[in-house]
Amino acid sequence: MQMSFELSAAIALTLAASMVRAESPAVYDVWIRNGTVVDGTGNARTQADVLVSGDQIVLVGPVDAGKIKAKRMVDARGKWVVPGFIDTHAHGDATEQSFVSFLAQGITTVVLGQDGGSMSYPGDDKLPLSTGMSLIDQRGSEVNVATLTGHGTLRDLAGIGNAPVPTAGQLQAMKDRLLADMQSGSFGLSFGLEYAPGRYSQIAEQKALGDLVGQHGGIVMSHLRSEDFDKIGGAIDELLQIDAHVHVSHLKIVAGQRAAEADAVLGQLERARAQGKWVTADVYPYLASASSLHFLYPEWAKGREAYEVAVKQRRAELEAHLRKRVEERNGAQAILFVGGPHAGKRLSEVAAELKKPYEKVMIDDIGYGGPAQAHFLMADAVQDRFIYADQVMICTDGAPGSGHPRSAGSFIKILEEFVGPAPKMSLERAVYKMSGLPAQTLGLDRGVLAAGQKADLLILDPDNLHSRASWTESTLRPSGVDAIYVNGRLAYERGEPAGKFGRMLKRTQQ
Ligand SMILES: [Zn+2]
Repeated sequence: MQMSFELSAAIALTLAASMVRAESPAVYDVWIRNGTVVDGTGNARTQADVLVSGDQIVLVGPVDAGKIKAKRMVDARGKWVVPGFIDTHAHGDATEQSFVSFLAQGITTVVLGQDGGSMSYPGDDKLPLSTGMSLIDQRGSEVNVATLTGHGTLRDLAGIGNAPVPTAGQLQAMKDRLLADMQSGSFGLSFGLEYAPGRYSQIAEQKALGDLVGQHGGIVMSHLRSEDFDKIGGAIDELLQIDAHVHVSHLKIVAGQRAAEADAVLGQLERARAQGKWVTADVYPYLASASSLHFLYPEWAKGREAYEVAVKQRRAELEAHLRKRVEERNGAQAILFVGGPHAGKRLSEVAAELKKPYEKVMIDDIGYGGPAQAHFLMADAVQDRFIYADQVMICTDGAPGSGHPRSAGSFIKILEEFVGPAPKMSLERAVYKMSGLPAQTLGLDRGVLAAGQKADLLILDPDNLHSRASWTESTLRPSGVDAIYVNGRLAYERGEPAGKFGRMLKRTQQ
């Protein structure tokens, strides 16, 4: 009797408290007023307020100002309020490196574990992926982190190395690890088919793993076997054989020149979509890739040992091959050294200074692989088509401290060059490609400004947006990024980071 009296008293108290709350003005954490809201869905911009409570957006729309109270009020008149950007292809170790250069360009989520290599963290060659994931949760990160499982890492862990065909036991070991990773929250699988050991794998192995990802609702992202103008079609066909949502990483055509070449690739992806396949891609807005001289070596000189043997025994043949490959890839003026003693100079300039042909310079003076280089392999006519295309989102392909300006400039560069004074696409389309589309691709509860979504959002000053990173100053932060909220917390303001509020994101189980 007594107990039930206490119980009903408690209920009465709770009811009274909730009635009082309903009648008083609500207190929200953040109230962004009068901004131009571009919500990330592609829908037309609206003038609206945004209310945030905890880590969630609770309202986007008109508010009754007299009834609202907030701990932080921001006047966003004349500013764009957009979802935090999602970078679907990034590199680096989020447990040990700073991702401020990503955050500063409006990125609030990165997808790691790319190009066949699982996300790195201390002990990653022995420990399960879940250990690295907890480490990010413990240490915090400037940005949210999602990750894939790397096919090359699976191969290494299963002891396959560079063998073309795994044994049944090795294949099973790869599948077990992949499934364990996905149960821990990995979003799927990444291939790096232009790198060792991925390049040695064959389609049966790729399908065994990729189809498994498809059965569990994950995504397969691939650095294709080749991005060369005459081989990319075949490389895309290889990826399309996998029964899963497939995604082409950093879409480009090496030495592509004409828009028609891009249209052929886009047509190939579109035809697969018309047959019911889910096919997406990402692209970064620079004409140079970060690279190494390895890409220029013939098959018989790939790997340090083979290369050294080739220099000794087949030097004339190697020189001829290097010259042919460099000429195919826009010539020696297209290779810019970003690190090492020749930093800031093109291969053509170094050859002129040393007064010898560049292929001899590569062998005698630069050495195996060389220091970091930028290879100017792309053309605007081709890349602009990719950037505009349906189902293609924006990425950086960057890494902290990489020396490539894409790691600090990509997303604001899109707004500056594609939406700016001579627009090549609408603001709404650009924002969709940087937030809503990648969120849909990964199944995230962020990337769109709507009630119930996680509060990753940006306040941008459209009159002042400049992507300032360059080849000589690759980490310069952009201007015009007024404020960044990550999971509802103010993470960046007026050019400076304000805290690590990013989380490890985990794929929702299916
Ligand atoms: Zn790649």
